[in-house]
Amino acid sequence: MDRLQLINEAEQVLMHTYNRYQVVLDHGEGVYLYDTDGRKYLDFGAGIAVFALGYNNKEYNDALKAQIDKLIHTSNYFYNEPAVFAAEKLAKASGMDRVFFTNSGTEAIEGAVKLARKYYYTKHGRADSEIISMNHSFHGRSMGALSVTGNPKYREAFEPLIGGTVFAEYNNYEDVASKVDEKTAAILLETVQGEGGLYPADPEFLRKLRALCDEKGILLILDEIQCGMGRSGSMFCYERYGVKPDIVTAAKALGCGIPVGAFAAVEKAAAAFVPGDHGTTYGGNPLAAAAVCKVFELYEKGGVLANVNETGAYLAEQLDGLVRDYDCIRERRGVGLMQGLEFDAPVKDVIARAMEQGLILFSAGTNVIRFVPPLVIRTEHVDEMISKLRRALDQK
Ligand SMILES: *Cc1c(COP(=O)(O)O)cnc(C)c1O
Repeated sequence: MDRLQLINEAEQVLMHTYNRYQVVLDHGEGVYLYDTDGRKYLDFGAGIAVFALGYNNKEYNDALKAQIDKLIHTSNYFYNEPAVFAAEKLAKASGMDRVFFTNSGTEAIEGAVKLARKYYYTKHGRADSEIISMNHSFHGRSMGALSVTGNPKYREAFEPLIGGTVFAEYNNYEDVASKVDEKTAAILLETVQGEGGLYPADPEFLRKLRALCDEKGILLILDEIQCGMGRSGSMFCYERYGVKPDIVTAAKALGCGIPVGAFAAVEKAAAAFVPGDHGTTYGGNPLAAAAVCKVFELYEKGGVLANVNETGAYLAEQLDGLVRDYDCIRERRGVGLMQGLEFDAPVKDVIARAMEQGLILFSAGTNVIRFVPPLVIRTEHVDEMISKLRRALDQK
């Protein structure tokens, strides 16, 4: 169908929750996407940090096709092999003991919040718990996940939210500590704030939070939906800090395109859930779990973490070059292949001009360009991205 006709139809039938780029994507190959007019785009968005392995990965596709022909769905009243193997892989990679699979990141947060509340309830016999979450955080759009999301713009129209949330300043230990009281069940934060503008946690901040949680018997929940699954150069970003959470959430690259998320917990926390406390029809179904298994396998086989460390360092270097060359760019922040450039003005136009150059980029907030490419990009793709972005910047 003609591009403009399709866009027109889309705007009539889909709810207006997004201002979409005027592009109709058709297929992908490696780190490139193609639209229905055959135009080629270098993809530094990966469907918002999802498609880590690149597009049209034959082994991944074949594994999914094989599972489709075998069994797609069973419900969680039965066991299935892929879910058990996927959980084992995720538990091992995250250092957690038990896993619950969901269909999205938002649901992983919902589950983590419920688990923290149940843990507190079991321990204290009271249902008056609080969760400390961070300003400028992003945890999802459902009522529970929105309740712990520190962005008033997303929350305002949807109040009253679930309550029991206290917000504190990210990377400000004194502020978080001052908000802890006898009702605090958990402290929740992203190891690297994504949506909020690519802010990694300060090592000192995270280590002190871990010590505080240990001292007070509070659960530490790390949201690694975006920064986890190798994006930082470690399977989970907290490994780089030598800190282990009690509960971790994952999604985005976990299934590399198949909708799947998870929350995983250490035994102490996980034990709070008993049959009937939580559930899902789809979560961890054989198809989604087969995707997770294959993703872990291909990460290992393809040396994905080594590539993130190598190419991530190169990307950071090249972005630093842009910071030096362009007065409108304030700074670079990030870790591995999760980088951001903060501008002194909204980046919407730069992103639109990059799109005209055949480069896909996302923003994080208004003034930050976010670079979250597939984790298989090479230095030559970074060079191509930089030259396209320079052209977009010079067009001003
Ligand atoms: C994307 C994201 C979510 C929400 O995940 P969905 O799959 O969109 O529901 C939650 N937390 C973080 C840090 C994210 O980046």
